[in-house]
Amino acid sequence: MVLRREVVKAMLGASCRLVSAQGAPNVHLASATKVLSSEWCGLVADQCVQLLGGRGYDEGTPVAKIYRDARILRIFEGPTETLLSHLGRCLLSRATRDEIADLFRSLGAAPVHAAAIEEVSALNETDGAVLIYAGWLTTLGLAQAVLSAGCFAASDCATAAADLVSAELATLRTRAPAQLSFESRIRARRTLNAFLQDAASSIRSPVIADNYLKLVQYVRHPSHVNLKFAT
Ligand SMILES: Cc1cc2nc3c(=O)[nH]c(=O)nc-3n(C[C@H](O)[C@H](O)[C@H](O)COP(=O)(O)OP(=O)(O)OC[C@H]3O[C@@H](n4cnc5c(N)ncnc54)[C@H](O)[C@@H]3O)c2cc1C
Repeated sequence: MVLRREVVKAMLGASCRLVSAQGAPNVHLASATKVLSSEWCGLVADQCVQLLGGRGYDEGTPVAKIYRDARILRIFEGPTETLLSHLGRCLLSRATRDEIADLFRSLGAAPVHAAAIEEVSALNETDGAVLIYAGWLTTLGLAQAVLSAGCFAASDCATAAADLVSAELATLRTRAPAQLSFESRIRARRTLNAFLQDAASSIRSPVIADNYLKLVQYVRHPSHVNLKFAT
């Protein structure tokens, strides 16, 4: 928990340093900082509740409120998935890939960037799971770069915090998205389509009522089903 806080503090320090140096925030580093700080805030709040047992769950203690409030950080000001797919697209897209490369270079971590690019180059960049994976590689890669730059984390636990980020990167790599065959993608699309049809006919909720969320399907081609939510 302490190490995660250390990583986020270092990334925030690096973001602030760039604002001072360049007169404007670096949006890529800011997005990565938002992802890690909100995801890890939720994780640490959850661990705090677990550590304190019943006292952590009891509404009379501040931890219960922190746990509840931490949940919204992963949604507002940009849901994690939106930020990650944006970062992934920026890493891969021709229009923005130099900006990301420059950012890594300015932190003295060009090899970290090169490794991320090499890893995703064989994957299908139009696949949402690939974009999110590339977003995580960028986020944790930037955290690694900031910690190895040394100047943003002054405390005794900076080395252990860097080790934590390396371990997170290693775990992430074990979950790299597989290359799906054309047939597998068609099968997945059919499964999703069947699920959505079922959901559309069974949703009975005061929040998602039929007249609020109506699922409309457009079939352009038997093998290409486009789904659209219309209000
Ligand atoms: C307490 C609170 C205060 C708020 N204050 C403000 C405010 O002051 N100003 C303001 O403008 N807004 C505000 N909002 C709205 C906030 O910006 C939105 O809740 C937020 O942008 C997420 O949009 P959404 O709730 O419509 O979720 P959706 O966009 O429906 O997202 C739901 C989920 O779908 C997935 N998803 C969505 N888009 C993508 C994508 N592109 N790729 C992959 N997955 C995706 C994610 O898992 C996401 O969590 C506030 C919300 C809350 C709860």
